[in-house]
Amino acid sequence: MPDISYPAELLIKNAVKQRVWRRSGMSLLVAVVGLLGVLALGLAMVIGAQPRPNDTSAPSCGGQTMNTDQVCDEYTNGIRTSTSYYQDMVDERNHGDTGVVVAGGVATAAALLAAIPLLRAYNPRKPWGAPLPLLCPRCGGPHLREKTMSHSITVGRIKTTYRGTVTLCTPDCGFTTARRPDPVTPKQRRSTPQQDRKPPRRYGPRH
Ligand SMILES: [Zn+2]
Repeated sequence: MPDISYPAELLIKNAVKQRVWRRSGMSLLVAVVGLLGVLALGLAMVIGAQPRPNDTSAPSCGGQTMNTDQVCDEYTNGIRTSTSYYQDMVDERNHGDTGVVVAGGVATAAALLAAIPLLRAYNPRKPWGAPLPLLCPRCGGPHLREKTMSHSITVGRIKTTYRGTVTLCTPDCGFTTARRPDPVTPKQRRSTPQQDRKPPRRYGPRH
C-alpha cells in the first residue's frame, strides 16, 4: 500500500519516466504510430465508402460472396439488426456512404493537424521541462529544469489528482524535488485564493 498522503515521490517518478521516454524517442514513436493508425483508418473510411456506380461484382456478406437470391442478415450481440437483399447491397455500395466518407475525412484532417504539434512536443532533442534559473543544491550546476506533473489515485470510486512542480537535475546528478503537491479534486480546484495560500495542509481524510 503506497503512502498516498504525500505523493511527491510519485510525481518525481512520473517526471523521470517522462524524461527517459522522451529522450529515448519512445514517446515520439508512440505518437507517430498513433497518428499513422488514425490516418490509415480515416483514409480507409474515405476510400471504402466512396460511391462505386460502375462496380457490378457480387456484394459480400460477412466475407462471403452473395448470390442474387440470398439475404444478408447482420447481427449485433446475437440480435438481428438488419436484413439486406442482394440488390440493396449493390445499391448501397453504388451510392457510397456520405457519413462514413465525412467521418473518415475528419479523422484524416485531425491526424494531419495534430502531427506537427505532437512531433514537436515529443521531439527527443527537446529538453524536458522549463529551465530554472537556480543552481542545483547537490552538484551546483545550472541544469535544473522544472515541470508541473500530475498523478491520479483512485480509491474506490473517488479519484484524486495530485499536482506539483517537479524539479530535476541531470540524470548523472540525480537531484530531484517536488513542491506544492496540492490534492486537486473537482470541488477544491477553484477554491478561494486565501485558502490556497494557507501553508499547513492536511492530506488525510477529512472528518
Ligand atoms: Zn545537480
